[in-house]
Amino acid sequence: MDQNRISTEEFWNPEHVVEKFWNGLKEGTIYAKKCKECGAIEFPPHHACNACGYHDTEWTTLTGKGMLKTFVFTGALNARLELEDMGLKYVCGEVQFEEGPEMNAVILGISKKKAREITDHLPVRVRPVFYDMGRYTTLFFELDE
Ligand SMILES: [Zn+2]
Repeated sequence: MDQNRISTEEFWNPEHVVEKFWNGLKEGTIYAKKCKECGAIEFPPHHACNACGYHDTEWTTLTGKGMLKTFVFTGALNARLELEDMGLKYVCGEVQFEEGPEMNAVILGISKKKAREITDHLPVRVRPVFYDMGRYTTLFFELDE
């Protein structure tokens, strides 16, 4: 067998990766890719490994549980207008999934008062919220307390 042969369908069809990811969120599943060589987890899913450069990865899922490491309230320039329009309280922060990968995320339900309470206790546990935005479902987080 030719070791350099690229076996994943996704390699030739990156849109399939994107579609599976978004469809997964709709069903409450967080898809990621796991490197077949070094085991690193790629999130958002990507068809090659960023850790070691290996070309082949396989599908895996994340629980969505993780730790909120840092957060900020958004200012006028980086506000998420669609969230403001919905009247949601939120912050933007850095979440590390329990499986390893990190992402910049929106964390819902954090008021100024709550922010003051948790600031000295970071990192704090968060859990996923699959939020229906109308045309699509996206991944947010909330405090797991
Ligand atoms: Zn790898």
